[in-house]
Amino acid sequence: MFDSLSDRLGGVFDRLKGRGALSESDVREAMREVRIALLEADVALPVVRRFIDSVTEKAIGADVLRSVTPGQQVVKIVNDELVAMLGGALAEDGGDDHGKGVEGLNLDAKPPVVIMMVGLQGSGKTTTTAKLAKFIREKHGKKAMMASLDVNRPAAQEQLAVLGEQVDTATLPIVAGQQPVDIARRAMESARLQNHDVLLLDTAGRLHVDEALMAEMKAVAGVSAPTEVLLVVDSLTGQDAVNVAKNFTEEVPLTGVILTRMDGDARGGAALSMRHVTGKPIKFAGTGEKLDALEAFDPVRVAGRILG
Ligand code: GDP
Repeated sequence: MFDSLSDRLGGVFDRLKGRGALSESDVREAMREVRIALLEADVALPVVRRFIDSVTEKAIGADVLRSVTPGQQVVKIVNDELVAMLGGALAEDGGDDHGKGVEGLNLDAKPPVVIMMVGLQGSGKTTTTAKLAKFIREKHGKKAMMASLDVNRPAAQEQLAVLGEQVDTATLPIVAGQQPVDIARRAMESARLQNHDVLLLDTAGRLHVDEALMAEMKAVAGVSAPTEVLLVVDSLTGQDAVNVAKNFTEEVPLTGVILTRMDGDARGGAALSMRHVTGKPIKFAGTGEKLDALEAFDPVRVAGRILG
């Protein structure tokens, strides 16, 4: 995860930290290298610009260069800006506000709390639905039920049933021929009757964003009033993942994003651009094929990982 970016940045900052004194042009030179590293990591250009401007201004503006450890101070500024870029809010006064970046699930509504999972086919949506059901039971202590509304892809409903058994979570029995909106209604009724706290709706994926997909998603949201609408996207697709998120945001009220395949993502462009381009928080990261490979996305930890 982030390996190539981490290596590049590590080289730049080791050089900075190794020096006793820093001039303004040293900082500008380092920022030029950071800029290239971020662009190579496939971070969106406006996000890179904002990042570099902000770090440069803070590093040159204050007393940083006159301090005893200017290199370390610059690295701290970079760290704080990375945290902000990944979604952790920096306080208005510019002071750090570490730890506030983890965007949890909102599960406090009247049960069953509905979580709608949306995304393109192949993004890892069905697997992530099962991972999330397990996470909710283990970390929130709540009982979840899952229902597949994917009537397009053959065996999608069966796939969720199999995953349900693996994560020890109930799935809505399959009724052949039933359409998504009716399945959603039946799932809500069933979750209510069986006292499930949370209902995860795995909606149909498509190969690309199209009108039929969006119309179906809106209709399902209309009958199920979800508390969370989580978009599952593949981090390996880089800026495409961010564009998919932008398209979905315009159609349904997303409450967050789950980035899958972070385990194989050496660049990290999607993770680093998502918040600023879409305004939506990354809530979870998929970090492997196993059903416990799901982490709450923590900007502070992720920034720490990038900077080694
Ligand atoms: P869907 O079409 O979006 O429902 O995709 P699936 O849930 O069927 O997942 C497609 C493949 O991606 C499966 O082989 C999953 O095991 C794999 N997958 C999902 N999430 C991750 C992840 O975070 N890391 C890795 N390495 N593989 C994942």
